[in-house]
Amino acid sequence: MDLKSGYPFWAIRNGLMHAFPRLERDLRCEIVVIGGGISGALIADELAAHGHDVAVIEQRDIGWGSTAASTALLQYEIDTHLIDLCKQYGEADGALAYRACAQAIDDLGEVARGLRDVDFRRSASLYYASKPGHIPVLREEAALRSRHGLRLRWLEADALESDYGLRAPGGILSECAASVDPYRMAQRLLARLQRNGAQVFDRTKVATMRATQRSVELRTDDGLRVRAEHAVICAGYAAQKWIDQRLARNRSSYAFVTDPLHKDELQALDTTMVWESARPYLYMRSTGDGRLVVGGCDDAIDLPARRDRRVESKARELVKKVGQRFARLQLKPAFAWAGTFAETSDGLPWFGPHEQHGPRVQFAMAYGGNGITYSMIGAGLVRARIERRQHSLARLFSFERGER
Ligand SMILES: Cc1cc2nc3c(=O)[nH]c(=O)nc-3n(C[C@H](O)[C@H](O)[C@H](O)COP(=O)(O)OP(=O)(O)OC[C@H]3O[C@@H](n4cnc5c(N)ncnc54)[C@H](O)[C@@H]3O)c2cc1C
Repeated sequence: MDLKSGYPFWAIRNGLMHAFPRLERDLRCEIVVIGGGISGALIADELAAHGHDVAVIEQRDIGWGSTAASTALLQYEIDTHLIDLCKQYGEADGALAYRACAQAIDDLGEVARGLRDVDFRRSASLYYASKPGHIPVLREEAALRSRHGLRLRWLEADALESDYGLRAPGGILSECAASVDPYRMAQRLLARLQRNGAQVFDRTKVATMRATQRSVELRTDDGLRVRAEHAVICAGYAAQKWIDQRLARNRSSYAFVTDPLHKDELQALDTTMVWESARPYLYMRSTGDGRLVVGGCDDAIDLPARRDRRVESKARELVKKVGQRFARLQLKPAFAWAGTFAETSDGLPWFGPHEQHGPRVQFAMAYGGNGITYSMIGAGLVRARIERRQHSLARLFSFERGER
C-alpha cells in the first residue's frame, strides 16, 4: 500500500535517523508488534516500559508509513463534535472520549520529555466557524465541552480579526493542544527501545498470521517464523486487510510546509493551531523553527497515482484558502505532499481483539484526524487488554461498540 506522495517534510528534514536490522532468523518473544510507525512505537514503548518482552517488525524503514506524512496536530478535539458523540453514545461516553484525548496530550508530552528534540510544543487550538450558519452549533458545542471541564473561550469575529488576522464569524479557543515531529518521535522511541534490549527490525514484511488459544505464529515474506504469546497489529491503514469487515474508508489528505517565517508574520499563529467547522476542513500549525504546516482539501481518492498528480494543484488551493481567511498571509509552499488517511463513520478508533483472530491478536487502528492522540490512548488500552485489566475506554474504542 503506497501511503504518501511527494516528499513528506519530516522524512526530508530528518533523513534515515537510526539503523535497524532486518530479521534474519526465526524469532520468539512475548509480544510481537507489527508496524513501526508512531502507533507501533508508542505501544511497544508502553509495553516494554512495563516489563514485557517486545519485538517490533516493520516492512519499510521505521516511521516511513503514514507517520512520515502526518501533519501531527495533537488535539483533544475529535473530528466528530462532542454534541454528536453524546447523541450517538450517551453523554458519559462522549465526554469520556474527549477527556481521554485531552489527557493523551499530556501523556504525549511526558513521552516527549524522555526523548531528545522531537519538537513537541504545547499550543492553543482555535476552531472557527466557517460560516455564520455554523455559529449556533459551535456555541452549543462550546457550552457542552465547558460543562465537561474542557477549558475554552468563545471568540467573536472582531477578536478573531484583531488577535489572529482571521476573517471568520466566531470560534472556540481551547487551551489544550500540541504538535510534534511524529517521524522523529517514532524513530527516537524505537531506537531507545533497541538500546534497552528490545528487538526492532525493519525491511521485514509479515506475510501471514495464525492465532491459536495459546500463541500467535507469523511468517515473513522470506519464510521466517515468529512465535509470540500476543501480536499487536499496528499496521496503519494496511491493518484493514487482516479483517474482512469494512471498518473505515480511505481518503487522501494534502499538506504543505513553508520556509521559516518571521515572528511578525506568524504572530499568534506561532502558539495557536487553527482549524474550521467546514468539512473537509482547512488547518494550520507552526513548527519549532517557525514554519507553517497547512493541510486539508481531503478527497475520496484511494489510488496513489491519481493522488500524486493532485499534490501541486491541492497546494495551490490550500494557499488560496489561507489567503481568503488571513489576508496578511501570502504563503509559499516549500514542500507539498499527500497521504492516505482512514476515516471511521463516528470518528473513533478501533483498539483491541477482533473475533476473526481471537484474544491473542490486538488491533491498533488509530484512524481519524486524531490518529496520534488515539495511538497514545491505545498504548494504555492495548497493555490493559494484554494484562487482562479493565480500561474505561475498552468498550467505546473497541470493536464492541459496533454492537450498540
Ligand atoms: C496528511 C496526513 C495528515 C495527518 N494529520 C494528522 C494530525 O494532524 N494529527 C493526528 O493525530 N493524526 C494525523 N494524521 C493521522 C496520523 O498520521 C496517523 O494516525 C498515524 O500516522 C498512524 O500511525 P500508525 O503507526 O498507525 O500507521 P503508519 O505510520 O502507517 O505505520 C504503520 C506501519 O506498518 C507497516 N506495515 C504494514 N503492514 C505491514 C506488514 N505486513 N509487515 C510489517 N509492517 C507492516 C507499514 O509499513 C507502516 O510503516 C494524518 C495523516 C495524514 C496522512
